[in-house]
Amino acid sequence: DVTAEILDGKALAKTIQEEIADEVAEFFQESGITPCLAAVLVGDDPASEVYVRSKRKACERTGLDSQLHRLPEDATQDDLLELIKKLNVDHNVHGILVQLPLPKQIDESRILQAVHPWKDVDAFHPENVGRIVQGRPRFLPCTPHGVQEILLRNNIEIEGQHVVIVGRSDIVGKPLAAMLMQRGPGANATVTVCHSRTKNLAEVTRMADILVVAIGVPEFIKADMVKPGAIVVDVGINRLEAENKLVGDVDFEGVSQVASHITPVPGGVGRLTVTMVIQNTFEAARLQLA
Ligand code: NDP
Repeated sequence: DVTAEILDGKALAKTIQEEIADEVAEFFQESGITPCLAAVLVGDDPASEVYVRSKRKACERTGLDSQLHRLPEDATQDDLLELIKKLNVDHNVHGILVQLPLPKQIDESRILQAVHPWKDVDAFHPENVGRIVQGRPRFLPCTPHGVQEILLRNNIEIEGQHVVIVGRSDIVGKPLAAMLMQRGPGANATVTVCHSRTKNLAEVTRMADILVVAIGVPEFIKADMVKPGAIVVDVGINRLEAENKLVGDVDFEGVSQVASHITPVPGGVGRLTVTMVIQNTFEAARLQLA
């Protein structure tokens, strides 16, 4: 007896990808350019393989070109920097995506700084992160943008709401907080960020009008941590090996009986993250043409 309305990321991703496909076709008519995403995959992490494949498929659906550059698990930092240097100056490549995590011999921040800021479709380069914080983004970070879109396109008001974000990673929690606290449309929220050192976490999460969870702990958020009628966005993607299934960071069964809206896993935020990579690649192509 699910009571919460399901926020369907799969359907929304399809809609947005159709919109992008139209724009990409129009762009090609005008410029003769097909935007191209170059993905870089180091090693053979199975989850990374899945992510890269879903990005390639989304490129196909929207009319983008895609490239996959593979380096072995034991590749050095210099090997990877060399490849990025080549992609940075390749006029046929508009977006560069280095799939994380990287093997331990490679310094992630060093790599993310090496990607040309105009091709940085993940928005991980310090220059692009700085622009997000200053409220003049070049690219929006993909997962946070997906969270924002799933709210706005379901007519959920963000302005003035108390958004509680659990998780402060550089990929999700931190940039999402920066975006939603911004002055302007689609933002203007009151934002609280929690993490593993937060005291009385449940007390804080229960204050949320909109609760966003990105911690990587399967089904951690239970019904008694959610205010009745709250909107719950579950960013977590956790594979339960024993049952061979994906679950979020939210106990969907319990929480869907107190929340007013909830995103499922799979079929929620993940679909949108991929879509936003595509959108940024298209924007990168436009930027490089201008
Ligand atoms: P990280 O591991 O980088 O960060 C996790 C954050 O959660 C940290 O800030 C950590 O706190 C906090 N945390 C961990 N455990 C607890 C706890 N028990 N209570 C409160 N806070 C806690 O994770 P990511 O942000 O990269 O990813 C989070 C989840 O989202 C994962 O399941 C990942 O697979 C998924 N994900 C999904 C995406 C999508 O497209 N849907 C995209 C990216 C990630 P502290 O900082 O104190 O250590």
